[in-house]
Amino acid sequence: MPLKKLVAGNWKMHGLSADLQEIREIAAAARDYPAVDVALCVPAILIERAARAVPGFAIGGQDVHQAEKGAHTGCTSAEMLLDAGASLTIVGHSERRDAQRERDEDVRAKAEAALSVGLGVILCVGESFGQREGGGAVDAVIAQLDGSLPPSLRREVELAIAYEPIWAIGTGKIPTSAEIGEMHGAIRRKLVERSGDHAGNLRILYGGSVKALNAADIFAIADVDGALVGGASLKTADFVPIVTAAAATG
Ligand code: PEP
Repeated sequence: MPLKKLVAGNWKMHGLSADLQEIREIAAAARDYPAVDVALCVPAILIERAARAVPGFAIGGQDVHQAEKGAHTGCTSAEMLLDAGASLTIVGHSERRDAQRERDEDVRAKAEAALSVGLGVILCVGESFGQREGGGAVDAVIAQLDGSLPPSLRREVELAIAYEPIWAIGTGKIPTSAEIGEMHGAIRRKLVERSGDHAGNLRILYGGSVKALNAADIFAIADVDGALVGGASLKTADFVPIVTAAAATG
């Protein structure tokens, strides 16, 4: 049976008090699609206001620190995210792997920290343009996934993998359906190797220039269990059609 799709928005460094109304509108529209899980991952400072504005709707963070507490100026712990009202967080986004020099072992520790307090996790992996062009995309992504996955994936963990080719993020370019299918199949096989039967319950999202126009085609690909959406998640009019497409493809 296909997994319930998850469509998560990544607001990156966008979002002020004035945008809470947009979040209310997205949450209200999402109620029309109970067959799809919808979430918005907003800047840490907006989480509490967003969660209060839309009770029952999933609000997430975009990063988490691996330590419980301590001398980590400017960082946010998993317990802080939870305390602010988040129910999930992104870890290992390529923008952080690049700008903050996050290594696979950092991403793994972040995922473990978040899962240990009961947050859901969207763990991002993806290849560079050079890796894609050189024919090494699958090997690169699977190695990254292997290094970033927490060692024990208990049945109850809420973990999704987001395959996000770096060259597709914010560029309007996307891999072919065959390339997405090949990558998601390889990710599924790695999840089976690492967590057995339970791997069938872990969602694999595609991310990178998902829009209303291409969403239905992407959701129709085998092993695509949802999407992580950046730019097109900022406005209700752009985001909700993606949720509609997810609902239509079951
Ligand atoms: C992202 O940053 O996670 C992303 C997928 O961005 P976009 O949809 O804008 O390509």
